[in-house]
Amino acid sequence: MKRLCTDLKIIAIFEEVKARAQELYPQQFNDCTIDLVVRETRKQLGSCTLSMQNSPTKATSAKHRTAEIAISKYLVGEEAIRKVLIHELGHFVAPDHHHSAIWKERADKIGEKWEIVCHTRASLQESFSFRANLPAPKINPTAPNYVLVCQQCGQIIVRHRRSKLVKHPNGFRCGKCGGSFKLLTNAKQ
Ligand SMILES: [Zn+2]
Ligand SMILES: [Zn+2]
Repeated sequence: MKRLCTDLKIIAIFEEVKARAQELYPQQFNDCTIDLVVRETRKQLGSCTLSMQNSPTKATSAKHRTAEIAISKYLVGEEAIRKVLIHELGHFVAPDHHHSAIWKERADKIGEKWEIVCHTRASLQESFSFRANLPAPKINPTAPNYVLVCQQCGQIIVRHRRSKLVKHPNGFRCGKCGGSFKLLTNAKQ
């Protein structure tokens, strides 16, 4: 089972790591959409699924790249979350390279800022088996129902109710940078 991530801590870390990746490899971020999802699995720490689609905005034959970056909901702690997200964004900036030297070089370059060195799945799996014995973290009952993220600067806005911004995110611009918002929700529509 998967759903869009609405955990503020994970989103904040993701936006930081994504900003760093974009700074280093801007060409990989042209005409693309990235969804961050949470999975109820103990078998995989994270994953990055890339696909190409016809551009929704442009009438040209240029392909729009979409990525789904997934993270296990059983990961505990900021560092573990950051590690997995750096690993997966490494795949995003090194498409088709799997766990090659190019993937490693780019992922490590992203991780440098936090002194994180990336490992392949096998060694990540080790760190996971230790956590696999822990019970699933409880879902915070006071978590906001709606989370909006600026697609440009990563600013996060939370709303507990279905406000105007939640109803019409496209009608608003980010106060910091003028970017557009993406709505993430865990409320029943
Ligand atoms: Zn990988
Ligand atoms: Zn912004």
